[in-house]
Amino acid sequence: VWSNVEMGPPDAILGVTEAFKRDTNPKKMNLGVGAYRDDAGKPYVLPSVKQAELEVIDSGLDKEYAGITGVPDFFNSAIKLALGEDSSAVKDGLNVTTQAISGTGALRIGANFFNKWYSQSKTFWLPTPSWGNHTPIFKHAGLNVSSYRYYDPSTCGFDFQGALEDISKIPEGDIIVLHACAHNPTGVDPRPEQWKELSQVIKQRRLFPFFDMAYQGFASGDTNKDAFAVRKFVEDGHQIALSQSFSKNMGLYGERVGAFTIVCSSPEEAARVMSQVKIIIRPLYSNPPIHGARVAAKILNTPALNAQWLTEVKGMADRIIDMRARLRDGLKREGSSHNWQHITDQIGMFCFTGLKPDQVERLTSEFSVYLTKDGRISVAGLSSNNVDYLANAIHQVTK
Ligand code: PMP
Repeated sequence: VWSNVEMGPPDAILGVTEAFKRDTNPKKMNLGVGAYRDDAGKPYVLPSVKQAELEVIDSGLDKEYAGITGVPDFFNSAIKLALGEDSSAVKDGLNVTTQAISGTGALRIGANFFNKWYSQSKTFWLPTPSWGNHTPIFKHAGLNVSSYRYYDPSTCGFDFQGALEDISKIPEGDIIVLHACAHNPTGVDPRPEQWKELSQVIKQRRLFPFFDMAYQGFASGDTNKDAFAVRKFVEDGHQIALSQSFSKNMGLYGERVGAFTIVCSSPEEAARVMSQVKIIIRPLYSNPPIHGARVAAKILNTPALNAQWLTEVKGMADRIIDMRARLRDGLKREGSSHNWQHITDQIGMFCFTGLKPDQVERLTSEFSVYLTKDGRISVAGLSSNNVDYLANAIHQVTK
């Protein structure tokens, strides 16, 4: 029956992990996948999450279905985390927010909703480069994907002029995808003044801003600071779409906790949009899983736990910032003549090293350091034990 089915390529990032697992070198490092590790290189369950889980279990809730849009205590507080406690959009009832199967699921609900109801355009513009799953998510939902300049390989920084030039040529009504903070894979974000200008240009062009916020709190350690762009756009009067993930900032990866929001122009419009979002979700997965959402809700709604969580997010962000500094120092100590400033300039979980594919290949074959071919490393995979080993390995392949 399936003789027509071709063998597909393995997933670029998960393929790196498989190769890593086969390697027997005790010094091997997996810097491919974007999952936080503690300084002993181990997966990290946040103490606030452990505590919230105990409290959720203790409260003896049943396992009945949540509604189509999930756990209200979760999604109502998720959007406040993004837009701010005092958000007038939320107070005025303009947001349509639903729980989603983490960030990926939120993007997919959005993609399906736009395909069905956004009459002005079917084209989504992505930064170059963008998270590898963006293109398939939008294409599988029947949308077109184009790209605008974002990363400048010559500076390993943000190509602001290139981005402005490209964005000012995007046809009116098209959708522009923006990484809210801690851009994946480059770790390069616009500065606040640049966001302000982007907001104006995007408004003049009448583009629809679709934010992907997968790392709130992870970039700076401050959830408010990391929400600057999203809040600025809403304040400037953009009606945004927003995908939120709690995979990284709460370490809830496999629990699949996220939310999708569209900011509307009136409560009446919001009610209509919400009715259609539900009609999209119902045949997709009917209703979302409840455990992770209850845990996140407990953290977001219990002041003491919330304060503890914010300290833990900052702890993760700070450990990453520290590892960046130590990697850069290590390269200097090794005597590298290259400018590695971008390692500490870039933010969030990833560092776009600027390593070329042949150098990446050597890192893997000679040093058992595993990363994606684009030279991206997950800084969260570094620890006190291996950061100097990596500095030496990078120096050897870039001499
Ligand atoms: N968007 C971006 C930019 C990401 O980096 C990720 C996680 N790698 C996601 C969305 C979604 O992740 P999840 O589905 O685990 O929330």
